[in-house]
Parts: sequence; C-alpha cells; structure tokens
Amino acid sequence: MPHYNKSMGSYEDNYLNKRPQSLCHMCGRCCRVVTTPKPYEELKRLQAEGDEGAKDFLKIFVPYPSIEAAREVDRELVDNVIEKMSEADDFDINKLTFYGCKYLLDDNTCPIYEERPALCRHCPSTPWAIVPPGCGFEAWLFLKREETKQKVRKAKEDYLELQLLKTKTRDLENLKKIESVENKIKHTIEIYKKYGSENW
Ligand code: SF4
Ligand code: SF4
Repeated sequence: MPHYNKSMGSYEDNYLNKRPQSLCHMCGRCCRVVTTPKPYEELKRLQAEGDEGAKDFLKIFVPYPSIEAAREVDRELVDNVIEKMSEADDFDINKLTFYGCKYLLDDNTCPIYEERPALCRHCPSTPWAIVPPGCGFEAWLFLKREETKQKVRKAKEDYLELQLLKTKTRDLENLKKIESVENKIKHTIEIYKKYGSENW
C-alpha cells in the first residue's frame, strides 16, 4: 500500500505517522494477493447488510477461483499465509479465499491512490498482520509486537501490585478505584489474548 500523502487530515497523519510509509518498497504483493480472516460467503453477507468494511473490501478485491490460482500469482505469499493462519485452532482451509485488487497496475502503482479505501491506507492494520515475506514492514512489525508485549507484561505487574494493595485497603471508595483500574488492566490483557498475551 505505497505512498504517503502529506495533505491528508490530522487523524490520517497520526495514523500513517505510526506506520512509516517510507518502509514500503512498492512490490505490490499485498495488493496482488490478499486474504481475510472472514470467509468469502460471510463477507458477501456483510456486504449485503451494508457493512462498510466488507463493502470497501469487495469493491476493490476480486476472489481468485481457487487457492491454486492464487499460488500461480504468488506461491510464496499464499503458502506463508496458510502456514501462519493454520496456527489458529479454528482454521479451515476450505473457507479460505484469496483475492487480488482489480486496480493495481503492472508497475505496482495504485491508480486510485487518492481515493483508496481505509483498509489500504491503514495497512498493516495490527502488529500481527501477516505481510508478504520480504515486505518492508517486517522488521517494524516485529518491533511493534515486542513493544506491545512489554506493555502487556507491565500491565500484568501492575495487576499483581493492585492485588497486594487490595489486601491492605479497608476504605470502600479506594477499593472501588482499585477495582476500576484492575478492570482496565484485565481489558488490556484480554485485547491481546488472541495473539497469546496469556503467555507473555
Ligand atoms: S508487501 Fe509490503 S513492501 Fe510490498 S507493497 Fe505491500 S506494504 Fe509495501
Ligand atoms: S486500491 Fe490501491 S492500495 Fe488498495 S489494494 Fe488496490 S492497488 Fe493496492
């Protein structure tokens, strides 16, 4: 998802500044072959229900007729995605569809760059995004994952300290405040549970 337009609004500036676009070397692989955690049938249903994310996605991405057809375009990428996704307990290869963007040009540029949807602008969307092997964001994503793990470890330490504090607190108001902080910490850990936060 190449290029960075400095004329965008401040929200976009902030968002994109967190994802240094200069790291992208415009190979176009993340536009040519992509997949989603949600199966194609579900995306179509969501699109019909008016879901903006599904509508945006299916407006630009066209499904490949089979996984093998996607492999013919980028075998390494497809096999890498399957390997990573198969780590999830609920992975089902029969529900997996790969897509290619109908706009990407042969020189890997985006002809609708100014109007491209948020899903393109915000890629890679999380530190755990599966990017093509050799993507310019690989090292940066690794760094972001490590930063997140540190944040969660710190949250766990804070949680233990709060447990101790609770045993020494008699004041009901203070107890309520402690519990409120506790819940926020639990929420932080919960958000990253699907990435393995319980084991960090
Ligand atoms: S795969 Fe990575 S380096 Fe290649 S175009 Fe996409 S974001 Fe840029
Ligand atoms: S719209 Fe542009 S940035 Fe988005 S996937 Fe297509 S070519 Fe890539």
